[in-house]
Amino acid sequence: MKGCIGMLKENLKYVEKRIQAACDRAGRPRDEVTLIAVSKTKPVEMIREIASLGIVDFGENKVQEIIEKNEIIKDPLNWHMIGHLQRNKIKYIVDKTCLIHSVDSIKLAMAIDEEAKKKNVVISILIEVNVAKENTKYGIYPEEILELVYNISYLSNIRLKGLMTIAPFVENPENNRVHFSNLRNLCVDIKSKNIDNVTMNILSMGMTGDYEVAIEEGATMVRVGTGIFGQRAYHVS
Ligand SMILES: *Cc1c(COP(=O)(O)O)cnc(C)c1O
Repeated sequence: MKGCIGMLKENLKYVEKRIQAACDRAGRPRDEVTLIAVSKTKPVEMIREIASLGIVDFGENKVQEIIEKNEIIKDPLNWHMIGHLQRNKIKYIVDKTCLIHSVDSIKLAMAIDEEAKKKNVVISILIEVNVAKENTKYGIYPEEILELVYNISYLSNIRLKGLMTIAPFVENPENNRVHFSNLRNLCVDIKSKNIDNVTMNILSMGMTGDYEVAIEEGATMVRVGTGIFGQRAYHVS
């Protein structure tokens, strides 16, 4: 395991250096950007190792993985739900996740609100936006957002904190700059309307291939998986 642990430390150092450099280029303080280590498919030993290096925010895209890992790891980590969420599974994670990044319909928001009420908690969420309008992706189109924001603002056990996007897979991250910039503008627009229960201070955008550009365009959370943990091996079952 030793070589493996050394690798994680090196990876994290490299990512940190590039985050700092992107912040410097953009004239932003480093503490404006939260690094979420995306640990999906990765074992708890690796999560513990990254946690021991000072990371507290972890991203998962499956309810089952959040439940299992949260049960095994006793450290108080922040679990971010970043994947598509099925309504019948909300009840399992509503009190275990610090932020749900992937809300893209009023039906889903209402279901989260309902489960949050049952557990007597208030849940922070982001709206997932399909900025590039790719038909393979979840997320709402930009022109549909405002209606969703107003509808969500009436839900008592939900706080809308901002927007999230999964940008297209591109060779050159510069090609995603326009999408990140559009998402930030949407966020600023909504914020300026001063809607009750809606704060819009979080922009979750940027992954291993494009987090530097995302930071230059205003990301406050970047979700980095491969860059920290290495390639994911998906087992065919
Ligand atoms: C897997 C995943 C990531 C991390 O992707 P990498 O390219 O490995 O950094 C980020 N966000 C979401 C929503 C993901 O599903």
